[in-house]
Amino acid sequence: MADGAQPASVVIVGAGQGGYQTAASLRELGYQGRITLISAEDVLPYERPPLSKAYLKGEAHEDQLCLRPATYYVRQSIDLVGATVTGIDPAARTVRLSDGSGYDYGHLVLATGATPRTLGVPGAGLRGVHTLRTAEDAATLRASLDGARHAVVVGAGFIGLEFAAVARESGCEVTVVEAQSRPLARVASEYTAEHFTRLHRSAGTRLLFGQGVAALHGDRRGNVAAVELADGSRLPADLVLTGVGVTPRTALAAAAGLPVSGGIIVDSALLTGDPHISAIGDCAAFPQVHSGNLLRLESVQNAVGHARLVAERLTGTARTYRELPWFWSNQLSTTLHIAGLDEEHDAEVVVGDDPDAFSVLLFRGERLLAVESVNRPADHMAARLLLDSGVKVSPGDVTAPGFTLQGHLASRRGGAGGRTISRSETMGARVT
Ligand SMILES: Cc1cc2nc3c(=O)[nH]c(=O)nc-3n(C[C@H](O)[C@H](O)[C@H](O)COP(=O)(O)OP(=O)(O)OC[C@H]3O[C@@H](n4cnc5c(N)ncnc54)[C@H](O)[C@@H]3O)c2cc1C
Repeated sequence: MADGAQPASVVIVGAGQGGYQTAASLRELGYQGRITLISAEDVLPYERPPLSKAYLKGEAHEDQLCLRPATYYVRQSIDLVGATVTGIDPAARTVRLSDGSGYDYGHLVLATGATPRTLGVPGAGLRGVHTLRTAEDAATLRASLDGARHAVVVGAGFIGLEFAAVARESGCEVTVVEAQSRPLARVASEYTAEHFTRLHRSAGTRLLFGQGVAALHGDRRGNVAAVELADGSRLPADLVLTGVGVTPRTALAAAAGLPVSGGIIVDSALLTGDPHISAIGDCAAFPQVHSGNLLRLESVQNAVGHARLVAERLTGTARTYRELPWFWSNQLSTTLHIAGLDEEHDAEVVVGDDPDAFSVLLFRGERLLAVESVNRPADHMAARLLLDSGVKVSPGDVTAPGFTLQGHLASRRGGAGGRTISRSETMGARVT
């Protein structure tokens, strides 16, 4: 808070992971003022990760997605409002809603998330072409998967590959089309990407890299029937999932005159240019701890961490956001955890001699940037502690005999198991 006093009311736009957590943390911290949590989605706040995993497989019911039951919001005096916020008046400190109503705020939190990008090609609007962001999207997709025979996934990021895994397990023929030369290009090292390429191929999924989509073709009833690639070839398809990234929802903020560039720009306390408005989660671009460069992350940890910081600030404890980012993904038999951020690594060191369970440590010079752990959850936990605590680990430490992340953390003694590999080496053979 600009003046140090608690605001009399907090209005939160967006009741996703970040919006829900802001409300919950405010109450946990003893905030007594009015909390209004406004959701454009007509369901209780829910978590998105199962949408491309357990829920899509039919292993989780809608109710299990909910972060809390309806009674929680009543008990906590959190006013859950189902409407879209259509405008902000920062001078009057009010928001306008789609139903014509309005709310005054002492503090406003923008937790508007992101929207999936769509393919800008002919046929992108055909029936059977999906994106996956909401519970509604997932329900539609799950129903379509039932009768589908040929699924084409455009984009080999987390969402595309998680969907491909479930579609393949459900008996569909699956082809993944990716414009880059490898999967997970934005989020994981070449070594880890190679592992996931092998994993999906061994499950019978076709992966095509360096391929763009030129058009989608439909049948007479307007259902998608084929995907035409940039080289002119065609893939049969009765279901297409587009997983080509998201665009942060910044329109409200921009219209209110707040600075926006690749996200709603906030400072290290997650305040926008207006001291009465914060922005958090997928929609917020915040300064990265080491470089100060603006960063926008899409993860549960980031949305929850942002929400907690804002709740603390609003209840009187100001701090700088410096939490370690971490991520996870489940695909087929494999869990990938990533701790830290790969800010242009120049060396990768692989730990572990099981081809299906290893960790890749990414270094820039002597600094450990991030650790990718495949089926090694204990490594992931140790990596988070290591990166968080500032305990030094160098490529030399890791290549010493007997090295383990856990051992290094506990005693700072070196150990075995890894060897440094150059970036160029990682495209081809695996290192064990
Ligand atoms: C299928 C899927 C799988 C994922 N898997 C993982 C995973 O395994 N691990 C992981 O860490 N992360 C995962 N994520 C990412 C993670 O779910 C997001 O990073 C997280 O939900 C971001 O939270 P948020 O609150 O910023 O945005 P969201 O959860 O997207 O919530 C934003 C909410 O704001 C609402 N809204 C927007 N504008 C308005 C408005 N004007 N008025 C009212 N409401 C508005 C939206 O409707 C939405 O409900 C996954 C995401 C998806 C889609």
